[in-house]
Amino acid sequence: MIRIQPEPWQAMVAHARRTYPNECCGAMLGNSDGETKMVREAIELRNAFEGAQAARYELRPEDLLAADKAARERGMDLIGIYHSHPDCDAYFSRTDLQNSCPWYSFVVLSIQKGEFDHANSWLPNPEQTAAEKEELIHG
Ligand SMILES: [Zn+2]
Repeated sequence: MIRIQPEPWQAMVAHARRTYPNECCGAMLGNSDGETKMVREAIELRNAFEGAQAARYELRPEDLLAADKAARERGMDLIGIYHSHPDCDAYFSRTDLQNSCPWYSFVVLSIQKGEFDHANSWLPNPEQTAAEKEELIHG
């Protein structure tokens, strides 16, 4: 289960709305007790995809490393990645799977016509062939 505290959650939704109709992406920092992951901070990252960003995002490895370092400096871990799906459901696409890592939670925010609609969290398997839905509590 993943719980996103109100402050990072509001930041993530605001980021996704501001970036609409393009996809946004960012890092979720927090702690895990082995059962529950608690997101305490969200960091906006640059969508580095060179093409149309309405249906695609790309993270630079150096940005992820910096987010990981920032987390450690604050006594937290990088526990997940979030991105938005403009005018699309919060499903986990084939591209999302191909770009995933099994040790992170992937939160997808569905933004419909510029407004937040719903969100899901996904846990990809190590083979990157499927992702299972993770219980998500936010706000
Ligand atoms: Zn996606």
